[in-house]
Amino acid sequence: MQGRSVYREGGVQCAVMTSHYISRFAPSPSGPLHFGSLLAAVAGWLDAQASGGLWLLRIEDIDPPREAPGAKEGILHTLLAHGLNWDGETLLQSSRDAAYGAALDHLAAADMVFRCTCTRQDLRAHGGVYPGTCRHQGMAPLPEGTPHALRVRVPDGEAARIRFEDRLRGSFEFDLAAEQGDFVIRRKDGLWAYQLAVVVDDAEQGITDVVRGVDLLDSTPRQIHLQHLLGLPTPRYLHLPILVDRRGDKLSKQAGAKGLDLADPRTNLARTLAWLDLPADPRAAVDSQLQRALAAYRPQNLPPGPIHLC
Ligand code: GLU
Ligand code: ZN
Repeated sequence: MQGRSVYREGGVQCAVMTSHYISRFAPSPSGPLHFGSLLAAVAGWLDAQASGGLWLLRIEDIDPPREAPGAKEGILHTLLAHGLNWDGETLLQSSRDAAYGAALDHLAAADMVFRCTCTRQDLRAHGGVYPGTCRHQGMAPLPEGTPHALRVRVPDGEAARIRFEDRLRGSFEFDLAAEQGDFVIRRKDGLWAYQLAVVVDDAEQGITDVVRGVDLLDSTPRQIHLQHLLGLPTPRYLHLPILVDRRGDKLSKQAGAKGLDLADPRTNLARTLAWLDLPADPRAAVDSQLQRALAAYRPQNLPPGPIHLC
């Protein structure tokens, strides 16, 4: 799919492809949207409109124990209340089990995955870098019922270096082996890991541009590694500023950030636009606020953050 604009020729309306841009907003339905998620949605929506592209919605509901009842419906309702309309059908990760399984089969056929029985305790001493303990195990069966995660191999040496360009923040280079090591793609509880699901679904939805919070910057090299192994394209990346509380911690549902008050979407939107250094007027309707912000929006002028909520 491509961005569309419409022109008239001989009285017939024709669609021409003007840009190739598809991005997505991908919230996890673990609770209501808060100001941090609204900021990502507003900036993502503006970036898609400014590019003449599509802005898709994907609900990342692969972690049922962390889901709040009604959260999905609440997210859709909250986006619409703030004038943030998305394009096309909403993709639910809970419906994508077969696709994640096929990706796993592909990785296993290339001998790029192994079963890992390490406990959190085993890994604690290694500062977040997997020490390779179970690498030799490959996919050989374990005794029935042995709890284990699946990890993808990360090569050593030059092959572990992942480079990418962020549209706001410039060039990055990560040594995946030294900084993270082999990482989990299916958890011990049998649930798919975010890293695998996000890569498979970004490809499924034809995402050309990932626009998300800078808190996910250190996931990007893992996702690029998986894209390489699965033969999938690497999108462009733009990592947005995040909102932090008084202590400097990222606003998050886990840390108890309050859901947005839907009684006053105009004020919510105006606050968010002001954080993004865009024109904001809480008296104006949400659609006109968004149009004014769109006229002023330049991705390279986004503040890098972090942005203090109070
Ligand atoms: N579901 C993730 C979150 O809510 C976002 C994933 C992404 O944008 O890549 O933090
Ligand atoms: Zn292990």
